[in-house]
Amino acid sequence: MSAFVEPLRLVLLADTPQWSELLRERLGAVGGPLPLSCAASWADARQLLDAADDAVLLTTPAHLPDSRRCSAPIILLLEHEPADMPPQVCDWLVRDQLSADVLRRSLRYVREQGRLRLTLQRLAEQDALTGIANRQGFHTLLAARLDEQGRRGLALIQLDLDNFRQANDALGDCAGDQLIKQVVARLKQYLERGDQVARLGGDEFALLLDRHDDLERLHARVQHLLEALGEPYWVDGESLLLGCSLGVALAKPASTADALMWHAHIAMQQAKSRQGCTYHLYDERLDHGMRSQVDLQRELRRALRKGELQLHYQPRLCLHSGAIVGLEALVRWQHEAHGLLLPGEFVPLAEECGLIVPLGYWVIDRAMRDMQWLRERGHAPLHMAVNLSFRQFQDSQLLPTLERLIDSCGIDSHWLEFELTETAVMRRSDYVLQTMRRLGHLGVRFSLDDFGTGFSSFEHLSNLPIALLKIDRSFVTGMETRPQSQQLVQAMISLAHNLDLQVVAEGVETLEQLELLREFGCDQVQGYLISKAVPLPELARFLAAGVRQPLLGERL
Ligand code: C2E
Ligand code: MG
Ligand code: MG
Repeated sequence: MSAFVEPLRLVLLADTPQWSELLRERLGAVGGPLPLSCAASWADARQLLDAADDAVLLTTPAHLPDSRRCSAPIILLLEHEPADMPPQVCDWLVRDQLSADVLRRSLRYVREQGRLRLTLQRLAEQDALTGIANRQGFHTLLAARLDEQGRRGLALIQLDLDNFRQANDALGDCAGDQLIKQVVARLKQYLERGDQVARLGGDEFALLLDRHDDLERLHARVQHLLEALGEPYWVDGESLLLGCSLGVALAKPASTADALMWHAHIAMQQAKSRQGCTYHLYDERLDHGMRSQVDLQRELRRALRKGELQLHYQPRLCLHSGAIVGLEALVRWQHEAHGLLLPGEFVPLAEECGLIVPLGYWVIDRAMRDMQWLRERGHAPLHMAVNLSFRQFQDSQLLPTLERLIDSCGIDSHWLEFELTETAVMRRSDYVLQTMRRLGHLGVRFSLDDFGTGFSSFEHLSNLPIALLKIDRSFVTGMETRPQSQQLVQAMISLAHNLDLQVVAEGVETLEQLELLREFGCDQVQGYLISKAVPLPELARFLAAGVRQPLLGERL
């Protein structure tokens, strides 16, 4: 009677030949396909173990490998009964007690143990819904691939669905699950030999691409991926569109799994902060030596303490009156070693770790003090727009803190405006509506930023207490030569006017764009044509000089 119908490879790593002789002799009596190979070193043993589906390592204490290096079960070969056992050892055999029966039982036991451990490991490293690797599994796999492949040609993509959360809220969890499965099916279709896919969290995925030294080919593949994921999805008979943001990082000779995942994550955040539905290649120059979230948090805290943050102001021109009627406060970080950093390089990360909350209060406070400063120098009152992220909106102290800040600055709160993005207002819409109403009682007003890039329902928009709608730069850029953009911009302007909202066009860079917007009835424009965002003293000079004639149009 043999317990070993399926083969079990035995790999022996020992320095004396006695063990191999003894084992061979006993194995003869055990029977079954139990091939025994002798390894001269741990490297040899590992190769033999990796080559078999089911394998056991038999070794002496002098050769016992670290548990992280050996995934096969280990049987320790001893001269005497042990007092205790290292944790990585599954069973042991003592030379003068080694009968065929003892060996058979030991091998049967360790094989079961090995299989159980493998199943548990698979469960811990697999996403239950889709069956692909989860974050932990992917990390293990990535670390192994980086080791093996000497990091050559590996590219890591991190992918985040831009409006999955809204779709999930609107359609329910069950439909959300179906959607995730469809996304995974599309990702799998895109894989080539040697590539891997994983689900890192709710709507975050990772792809490991093999052989990607050729940047052009990588670019083409990523583009193809964006297109494939941008096709409509069908859930419960309804068609649905999802945007996604991709960050790409290339493995370098010194890359670790953690660093590579962090880089792909930063790049993904940068893609997202642009406008979504796009990808961003990680650029080392943007790394600034901040290798982890912890580094960044420490640096940002220091920046807040040491006053390294600054506000620049970008004016908004009214097309009806030809006057500057508002400003947008845009934060910058004057880093002691890396120079002036733009918000795209730190705001998304500050949002993630929650530091956006104190940073945001600093911005509001600074902006109101600067308003006061301008007033004291005789400038006409202007609306001051401050960007507010969803995370700040969730802060329970938002209302009392704002009350305190408004009080202490002595500013009429009617001049204060908060810019919220479409994506932010569509999230937890009831809660957002309530908070907006409460803030509205303080006198502040709201605008909807980056309009057109998110996912908003007309009905919800019409219920929100919003005063202005800001058309995203992506529709304005190149609109002179793109009739489709012109139609879209026209439609957005008429939609806003139907809702009694004023319209601001962002990113106006040419006179032609300005003229078209004027023709379409747009109320205000903001962009490099009028001015870039500038520090306060420069803004004061700009305001004193007045608006240049070409911007005023013929009617004015
Ligand atoms: P946003 O609110 O949509 O701001 C407009 C961005 O477009 C600014 O970039 C501005 O400099 C840029 N821009 C304006 N006119 C033009 C133009 O004619 N051409 C081009 N190419 N770009 C133009 P910036 O300053 O890099 O800000 C990026 C984003 O960072 C902002 O987008 C906003 O979402 C966020 N942000 C900035 N300051 C803050 C802040 O204090 N708090 C929060 N939560 N977010 C902020
Ligand atoms: Mg804005
Ligand atoms: Mg904007």
